[in-house]
Amino acid sequence: MSVSTLAAVSAVPVADVVAPSGCAPLPVLGRDVTVPLVTGGEVAYAALDYAASAPALQRVWDDVAAYAPYYGSVHRGAGHLSQLSTELFENARRTVAGFLDCRDGDQVVFTRSTTDSLNLLAAALPDDCQVFVFETEHHAALLPWRGARVTFLDAPDSPEQAVRALEHALAALAARDPHGPALVCVTGASNVTGELWPVRELAAAAHAHGARIVLDAAQLAPHHAVSLRELDVDWVAFSGHKLYAPFGAGVLAGRADWLREAEPYLAGGGASRKVARREDGGVDVQWHDSAARHEAGSPNVIGAYALASACTALAEAGFGTLAAHEERLIRTVRDGLADVPEVRFLSLFGDDAPRVGVLSFVVDGWNGSHFAAALSAEYGIGVRDGLFCAHPLLRALLGGDPRDGGECGAPGAAPGGPALDAIRVSFGAGT
Ligand code: PLP
Repeated sequence: MSVSTLAAVSAVPVADVVAPSGCAPLPVLGRDVTVPLVTGGEVAYAALDYAASAPALQRVWDDVAAYAPYYGSVHRGAGHLSQLSTELFENARRTVAGFLDCRDGDQVVFTRSTTDSLNLLAAALPDDCQVFVFETEHHAALLPWRGARVTFLDAPDSPEQAVRALEHALAALAARDPHGPALVCVTGASNVTGELWPVRELAAAAHAHGARIVLDAAQLAPHHAVSLRELDVDWVAFSGHKLYAPFGAGVLAGRADWLREAEPYLAGGGASRKVARREDGGVDVQWHDSAARHEAGSPNVIGAYALASACTALAEAGFGTLAAHEERLIRTVRDGLADVPEVRFLSLFGDDAPRVGVLSFVVDGWNGSHFAAALSAEYGIGVRDGLFCAHPLLRALLGGDPRDGGECGAPGAAPGGPALDAIRVSFGAGT
């Protein structure tokens, strides 16, 4: 297996993101920064790493640039620019609510990212909440539930088994504690295999047992329409930077009740409606009941505005064309590597299971990190390598024990031996 095999295959679809050969220095704060790339001849600087962060759309940058002259404080001033910023921020919230097909009464809270959104929900859980999460989740969905009782479910080998496993676990809880609150957290599409999870069925199972469900749509939302109403999930979380917006803004959207009843995620201005000194010297605080309750401090107006711009662009373009494009690219990579015996694609539900434009594989005898470094240095192709912030899933897929140790990015495949980490290629609009 040579690196050039993947390079030859991967180079096919990347024409749109190809830069001129040679690497121009980037002027950054008065200093030239260059990323060293070793190569002779033409180089395609391609990032097949959309699952990590998708380059912001030109339309999004244009929208941000159009807003720049009107930039003003938000929620705080009577001035024209302040009112304009406030209106744009709140309009971004309405746009996101439309993008997610929110129900009456749902709240859209702007956060920093999916990780932030899930941590916010974790902080808002009612007392004694039991959380159910598959061990296959991204760490952002696996780890935030620190104060709760968590049941980790084993990796399923089919969508049907995932639903059965959840039903079984929820039935066991119902027998023990029929009225206690419970939350299921599940991904819509795996950041490792790209496979789609049976969200609607898992939501139905959760609700049948009186539990609630939050959808980690970090990988789903950039590829598929996500409707809170149709999927019947209680909350959804996603990140702007994976959805063709710049870094720094995310969303938690869904039912208002747990959010309204919880202590604010951050305490401070914006979250508080009224603050007054008490006779005993302390302060009494009345918090907002709206999304502002969890958005203390000056909000990331540009981030929210850019995120809403990306939502609008995707909704207008429609997901059908993008899905067909990604499917073609996935097939190209698969077909191109089909004859290479050292390559093994990673999947839980089978190679042909429906997936978004994300594909991971291992190359026996190679460290994924070495393979990825060679792709970058020799061909200018950027892919992701390692255990992808989903350590238990990767260990299960690589044939190890999900409960075993070992750190991300520190593997050591013996020559000719099994791979200890993986390589991920991922696609989107523009690849
Ligand atoms: N969930 C999934 C499935 C992801 O792939 C990621 C990031 O890769 C996250 C959550 C966390 O997203 P963020 O880093 O934007 O918080």
